[in-house]
Amino acid sequence: MESGVTAVVEWLRAAAREFDGRVLELNDLDRLLGDGDHGTNMHRGFHTAQFMDFDRLDTPNEALRHAGMALVSVVGGASGPLFGTFLLRSGAMWPREKTTASIATAVRAGLDGIVARGKAEPGDKTMVDALAPAVEVLERAAAEGVDLQTALAEAAAAAEAGRDRTADMVARRGRAALRASDSLGVLDPGAVSMAVILRTAAEHIS
Ligand code: ADP
Ligand code: MG
Repeated sequence: MESGVTAVVEWLRAAAREFDGRVLELNDLDRLLGDGDHGTNMHRGFHTAQFMDFDRLDTPNEALRHAGMALVSVVGGASGPLFGTFLLRSGAMWPREKTTASIATAVRAGLDGIVARGKAEPGDKTMVDALAPAVEVLERAAAEGVDLQTALAEAAAAAEAGRDRTADMVARRGRAALRASDSLGVLDPGAVSMAVILRTAAEHIS
């Protein structure tokens, strides 16, 4: 495999291992806000992606496209199509030459795809509240000439801070909005998952 594919495949497999270990935690959060299936959904989606035959893929773009299609097709509910869209859209823009600026462009495309599909705004208590601050950090790092490894580590930290702020938000999107008044004090499970995806990216892409 070409090295760009290897890094992306290692990233997806690391995320899959994280979701293997977090099924109960994510289901518990989703039980408080929604229907209790978010951990099962992420596990199923990334498990399918993890065991795809990546060896015959030549580019990271194809690997991300296949993983995105897997998430869209095997995961029911809101999050599969949204995380799938993230991988499909960032995969389409994934650069041949990885720099802070080119990765920022790809991740921004992923965020734009999620927003176009789900219409969530910052503060709605969704995965966007973890991803949007990470994209801002990547874009600022690109403008300041920060190296990719440092930029991705800062982006992961921004995603984790955004995830933590969802506890103070009232849900305005998805199933959780139906129980908006109960949602204060609870982390949004989709934001937890998005922070996992960015942390594993920081560990495997650079
Ligand atoms: P479902 O809500 O269909 O059961 P999941 O439980 O797997 O799907 O995912 C719930 C997560 O999806 C939420 O925690 C939230 O982060 C995310 N989500 C739901 N609706 C939206 C939306 N419109 N935009 C962005 N993220 C959303
Ligand atoms: Mg759910």
